[in-house]
Amino acid sequence: MTILVTGGAGYIGSHVVQMLIERGHHVVVFDNLIAGFREAVHPQAQFVQGDLLNPVEVNTLFEQYAFEGIMHFASHIQVGESMQKPFKYLRDNTNGMLNLLEAAANHDVKRFILSSTAALFGNPQKMPIDEQEARDPGSVYGETKYIAERLLRWMDEIYGMKYCALRYFNACGAHPDGHIGEAHNPETHLIPIVLQVALGQRDHVTIYGDDYDTPDGTNIRDYVHVQDLAQAHILALEALKDGKSRAYNLGNGQGYSVKEVIEACRAVTGHPIPTKVGERRAGDLPVLVADSTRIKQELGWEPQYDDLKQIVATAWKWHQSHPNGYNK
Ligand code: UDP
Repeated sequence: MTILVTGGAGYIGSHVVQMLIERGHHVVVFDNLIAGFREAVHPQAQFVQGDLLNPVEVNTLFEQYAFEGIMHFASHIQVGESMQKPFKYLRDNTNGMLNLLEAAANHDVKRFILSSTAALFGNPQKMPIDEQEARDPGSVYGETKYIAERLLRWMDEIYGMKYCALRYFNACGAHPDGHIGEAHNPETHLIPIVLQVALGQRDHVTIYGDDYDTPDGTNIRDYVHVQDLAQAHILALEALKDGKSRAYNLGNGQGYSVKEVIEACRAVTGHPIPTKVGERRAGDLPVLVADSTRIKQELGWEPQYDDLKQIVATAWKWHQSHPNGYNK
């Protein structure tokens, strides 16, 4: 199939692009390179630099290629920033989505995979979190993904566009051969920050609060490997053939605390990784763990990376070989 991947030069997008190409798909990456990197795009993918906020560029793209499916990753992704710059998130993420959907509807594209998030669940009543949980975003970022899911519902109803929303918990790790991996600027995610300490680029990790109601007082998250996420996209694309839209929560189903993550990084890197305890980060929930039974049962998804040290080892390989990310 010819697949459009928006944000295909970003962290998760670049891993999905590689897997699509390995499965024989023709992949077109559309990315404005504000947060993405040209070097992250697989050489066999067609690369188009452009912006979803520019409808002319989006329409030109759809005139040029006959897409059979879309995977939409391009968006602003920082929870904290979304609370300081709400309009940047609401405007850009939503307008980008609208321009993309309008072009897709006009060109009769019938399959759409959305990069969604556990940030939809700001007030979970049950842990682990399954798809029955109420969508009640705890941040503007989460709200923009909720809006995106809602928009897709109407695309299905009006245009018969079938969609799958994939709600990632904590994406982490890197391609096992270490040539692509996580590179954000600024970096805000836990594992890359801890590994930057191991590389000597930071002198310590700040733990955002150690007085939560968890066994060791630090937050618990569900760390799911980027290659397992990529696998879920491939399965979802295939599954949409049956003409049914759906949403899945994607995680390992096992939670690790911030302290446990740091301990795993110490074991993998051999570095002492000094820590300091800081303030709680606004909007952080104590525990976020996925119940991914539905995608396992319906699509046969089986995460290959369920061991935290194994996950960290893939990230460490990437960070060691690319200490400055994609910047030379
Ligand atoms: N965290 C931390 N120090 C950091 C970065 C993150 O203690 O420098 C914690 C954060 O509070 C959360 C967990 O690590 O409990 C994972 O945070 P991350 O930003 O990686 O992902 P999020 O859970 O926000 O999607």
